[in-house]
Amino acid sequence: MIEERGQVNAHTHLYSGLAPLGIPAPDPSPQTFVEILERLWWRLDRALDERSLRAAARLYVHDALCAGTTTLVDHHESPNCIEGSLDLLADVCQQLGVRALLCYGATERNRGRPEAEEGLRECRRFLRENDRPLVKGAVGLHASFTVSDDTLREAAEICRETGAVTHVHLAEDLADVEDAQRRGWASPLERLLSFDALPEGSILAHGVCLDRSAVQECARRGLWLVQNPRSNANNGVGHPLHLSATDRVALGTDGFPSVMREEYEFLRNLPLPPGESQEHRRARWEGGQRLVAERFGPRPSHEDYARFDGERCREVVVAGRRVVEDGCLRSEDGEGIVAEAQEAAARLWQRMEQLEERDS
Ligand SMILES: [Zn+2]
Repeated sequence: MIEERGQVNAHTHLYSGLAPLGIPAPDPSPQTFVEILERLWWRLDRALDERSLRAAARLYVHDALCAGTTTLVDHHESPNCIEGSLDLLADVCQQLGVRALLCYGATERNRGRPEAEEGLRECRRFLRENDRPLVKGAVGLHASFTVSDDTLREAAEICRETGAVTHVHLAEDLADVEDAQRRGWASPLERLLSFDALPEGSILAHGVCLDRSAVQECARRGLWLVQNPRSNANNGVGHPLHLSATDRVALGTDGFPSVMREEYEFLRNLPLPPGESQEHRRARWEGGQRLVAERFGPRPSHEDYARFDGERCREVVVAGRRVVEDGCLRSEDGEGIVAEAQEAAARLWQRMEQLEERDS
């Protein structure tokens, strides 16, 4: 058996945990990145209620732990149940035993400013109240292109007040860049920075459209970039070309199951952009460890680790507690979690279809 540091998924979405159970594909299929969001993921998140969200999170965390992932950096959105949603996720993480950094991704895309205010209120409340040992909070923004200046000011204020970092999707697609330019900024990075919404240590998912000097700017300011290669390929947005300009890069799955070895294999098989080596890519494992150490404090290696027998993860320890034994969760029956997820998924797909009829 080989023992490794517990793996870190530096950007994901627990709310999409039911997707592998047969999420209905939009028909006709979406053509652009924004259409994929509007017709698939933004319909899924609107259809979530507490029950389906809990089932999604439980299945996602169960599978993540059983694959050797010991920390999840989550970015959450459930526009029809915002208040209390971070507690719901935090309870799942604490009970099943995964380390997690949680935020609500504030956005104005459905209901305007009141929606963003609600999202940020949830972040602030959680940052003040949460005392679960395995879970910490962050300030979340969906992305520059779905929030107004007032929301950015408010997010910056909560960061100052609580000492939290921000977790946001950045330059995932040209749509985000063009929106920032329409608002008079050179880029979404410049826009977020000018409102002080990205304190040191903040987490930027994707950065596909960042040029080399923008990536260097992120490095100077101590920001983390998170590469999500399978998601980038799936959404057809291309792959970031300049991440070798910083050593602050970690790996995420952006809602794909948290099997970090598969994510890394996918990355390793992509063509190398100029200036990037497989060494840079390997360092992204360590990047995740450093990101977690910044938020949770340094963890001795006997606190979070996984033991693998070939490809199979056999044992996982998080914060010194053995949570997976013989490849199975110790605290709960995995089959029960799957059964509950299947039932919740069937109901969720129905609600998504009802939304589709209403939208069209
Ligand atoms: Zn994402």
